Amino acid sequence: MSLLALKERSAAHPAGRTPKVEFRNITKRFDSTEALSVVSFAGMAGSVHAITGENGAGKSTLMKLLAGVYPPDSGEILFDGRAIRFDSPAAARAAGVSTVFQELTLLPNLTIAENLFLGREPRRFGFADRSAMRRQAHAVLQRVGVDLHPDVTCGDLAIAEQHLVEIAKGAAAQADIVIYDEPTAALDAPGVDKLARLIEDQRRAGKLVFYISHRLDEIFRLCDMTTVLKDGKHVRTCPTADLTHDALVSLMVGRELARLYPERGAKPSTAEAALRVTDFVARPGGAAVSFAVARGEIVGLAGIEGHGQREIIRALAGLAPHMAGGALKFDRDGSAKPLGGSIVATARAGVGFVPEDRKTEGLYQPLSIQENIGLGMLRGASMMARAKIDRNRVRALMQQMNVRARDDRQSVSSLSGGNQQKVMIGRWLASGVDVLLIEEPTRGVDVGAKAEIYRLLRAFVDAGGAALITSSELTEHIGLCDRILIIREGAIVAELAGEEATEETVMSYALIGRPPERASR
Ligand code: ADP
Ligand code: MG
Repeated sequence: MSLLALKERSAAHPAGRTPKVEFRNITKRFDSTEALSVVSFAGMAGSVHAITGENGAGKSTLMKLLAGVYPPDSGEILFDGRAIRFDSPAAARAAGVSTVFQELTLLPNLTIAENLFLGREPRRFGFADRSAMRRQAHAVLQRVGVDLHPDVTCGDLAIAEQHLVEIAKGAAAQADIVIYDEPTAALDAPGVDKLARLIEDQRRAGKLVFYISHRLDEIFRLCDMTTVLKDGKHVRTCPTADLTHDALVSLMVGRELARLYPERGAKPSTAEAALRVTDFVARPGGAAVSFAVARGEIVGLAGIEGHGQREIIRALAGLAPHMAGGALKFDRDGSAKPLGGSIVATARAGVGFVPEDRKTEGLYQPLSIQENIGLGMLRGASMMARAKIDRNRVRALMQQMNVRARDDRQSVSSLSGGNQQKVMIGRWLASGVDVLLIEEPTRGVDVGAKAEIYRLLRAFVDAGGAALITSSELTEHIGLCDRILIIREGAIVAELAGEEATEETVMSYALIGRPPERASR
């Protein structure tokens, strides 16, 4: 075993340098999801190492293992050739790992300086030395290129500024290993440039920087090495210079679609629009989009996270105001109702919305399945009103949707993610809406429940409904949708029939706004 390991080592690192960090056969599961499956690769000091792959590939989980957020189920992490094991994020920090995660971790009631040095304030005669702290904070902010006073309370900062302070906090930590998890999602272009300079400094200082991103231009600009993960498995680690855009896209995608998806319906001969969106601008300064969704159709808004799909569907749902243009929902008799006012108006127009985050936005967790489904029947009435609910109808729906629960009185908080999602969709089916707007129809759902949700949606449109979805899973767009609208920087850059789309073409449009150079598969 040790001989084998030695052999692998010398093959992987011909120069004979010991890697700063080595992952060996790392496996991590969450319930039924294998987030990481025997992942092995190494990162060298003095390099910027991209970790890339589609959403759900396991990138964040891997970095959280390195940051001591949780331990691997099996496998080892080696630092400078020695196996280490962290019991806590504090232990990882003490060992020189600094992390800038997607979630903001600043305490809003503390100042920038206090946040930067939280838990390791400079001390003098046993007391926190506030002036030293302020001085050092100022220096770090300068280094990151942030023009903010250290005494400003973090709660008063704009979100983008908070992200910059978050980055400064990572830089203040004086670590050998710095992890950035999709750091540019909330940054503007100058913010990205500042970050790029900081990362370059960190590389020159001999640190190992792990840079998680699925933005190809950033990977090619910043990273020496690239590791691709897919569905929790290691696909490749190689110098970024050995890759082209197209090659990287192929590594990130390129998987056979399982027979997880129902047959697409026959194309309706008269495309009767159920939803028509015209010159619709969903975010300030954003592009205008126009499209329609016909009865019998499932249409997907695809694209890289942060490119505006979410804003479009949310503005249509009435959750956020739109800036310009309009959207109409057509009833079967041809009468039109405007969309995009409020969530209640949306429901009154016969349009259901299923949000991405069921736990906080979608379901009333303490209430029973019966009440959650029944709420849809009270459409237009106060959503929280608990009125008489047709239990027989609810039970019939639960059966039709194959909701696995003891009975309809069980609280939804005790259901699995897949069953919660079915309850969400069931609520709208019960209400008799004929247009559904769905964010991430199957996020966090196991593969069996996925197939059932796809079947439900297909049955819904086959019966004359229309559905618009967003999804971060390309395969879901390709497998489920009749048409895919690809959004890049807020605009529709391409429309593909689900049947002819490949992951490669969708990804290429989403990333670079044009089809792949090679002929697609
Ligand atoms: P990525 O960062 O590449 O998008 P993640 O590491 O966040 O991927 O997730 C990998 C897989 O593990 C996904 O299927 C995700 O749903 C699942 N997962 C991640 N964290 C948790 C968690 N705390 N509980 C349950 N499942 C999780
Ligand atoms: Mg992630």
